[in-house]
Amino acid sequence: MRDTTSSCARSEAIETLSGAQLTAWQTDRLREVAIYAYREVPFYRQLWDRAGVEPGLLGSIEDFARFPTISKDDLVQAGNCWTNPHQGSVAFSTRGTSGAPLLVWLSAEEEEAYIRPTMRGFRWAGFQPGMTALLMSPVWHRLAACEAHAIARLGGRCAFFWGSMGTEYTDSFLHTLASERPEFITTTAPFLLSLVRRSPGDATRPHKLFKGVRSVVVVGLPLTPRMREFLRDRLQVEDVFERGGTQEGAATDECRWHTAPHVHEDVCYLEVVDDAGIHVAPGFRGRLIVTKLTTAGSIFVRYDTGDVAAFAPGECPCGCGFRRLKIYGRPESSVLVGDRLITAYDVRMCIEEDPALVGRNVLLVREANTRAGVLTVAVEGDAHDPAKLQARLREQLGVATADIVWLGDLRVNWGFRQVLDGREVRLPGS
Ligand SMILES: [Zn+2]
Repeated sequence: MRDTTSSCARSEAIETLSGAQLTAWQTDRLREVAIYAYREVPFYRQLWDRAGVEPGLLGSIEDFARFPTISKDDLVQAGNCWTNPHQGSVAFSTRGTSGAPLLVWLSAEEEEAYIRPTMRGFRWAGFQPGMTALLMSPVWHRLAACEAHAIARLGGRCAFFWGSMGTEYTDSFLHTLASERPEFITTTAPFLLSLVRRSPGDATRPHKLFKGVRSVVVVGLPLTPRMREFLRDRLQVEDVFERGGTQEGAATDECRWHTAPHVHEDVCYLEVVDDAGIHVAPGFRGRLIVTKLTTAGSIFVRYDTGDVAAFAPGECPCGCGFRRLKIYGRPESSVLVGDRLITAYDVRMCIEEDPALVGRNVLLVREANTRAGVLTVAVEGDAHDPAKLQARLREQLGVATADIVWLGDLRVNWGFRQVLDGREVRLPGS
């Protein structure tokens, strides 16, 4: 099948389409993808036959919304029946942090389709030809796999450090930072936050080594405005950008206005739905549904990620017509307290209203009593104005009771998973 994003010029022109033009363009892609999936992938054929939907008749976004959503469990149960027979050559495992992992295939054709949005995101973040970029390594995510290609095509130079994004490799990262002097860095937010936490009296304290770095692009945690300021200030870099995406094909990048990451609408079609599966308006939260707009690699059509997300209302001053979407939390970074789904992002927003608490690691604790409306939060360091914080948590998050566990000297690594199971840890005072 023809790659509909094969023209670079076309890919950039698409940013300036009006909302109606973009919707028409995406509807054509959705129909092509659905026709392909129906013909080639037994899982989708059987699912859509049962639901009584016909890919060939798909003529509007409303038609598409009648296609059933699918979950990770559906695909795990379907086994090989759901994968594209022309699946590709590289496999990535997804969501091992929330249940059984799913193997996702990436092909060269699909990677090609995702390099252009990566280039676009890096340009938005200020990358210019001739710069050196220190990139995430090893390549553990399909979007990270595109980064070196994007930098090379933008006329830049790539640098990598030895190791993974584990905290034991911060020295290796800092060593490469000192020797390569990059102007541009991509990394994960937990890794960067762990690095910032190093002893402030240390002669190799991070900001000296970050001298000359203009942009840092982070993935892995949704940034709160205060967390961005904190990182900018501690590292003394010009700006910090948030990249988002999922192994199933969602891809987002922030422009310099930071009004929420723009969706790369030429490679993915994203929806936000409520519990009844109805689209929710911008500004309101729901579950993120992902459809990939290429037929290469694993096929995802209306995949329910379980992530909590919301489209941003209004337009961005940058002029790009792509919608903006904030992913607030994943199943592994949220707890259900009573009937309210609370993300670690929500708790951080609350906690960071006190400047003394910005930059501290915060974890949600999942316990038996969360059902009864009790929110338990573990906060790094010593207690600081606990009564006021409890009142803020109760008021802003609408919970009956907010318990705070102050972790004192107990260091908990920053991670993607921001929820502790109360049974697996023994917290101070418990
Ligand atoms: Zn923008």
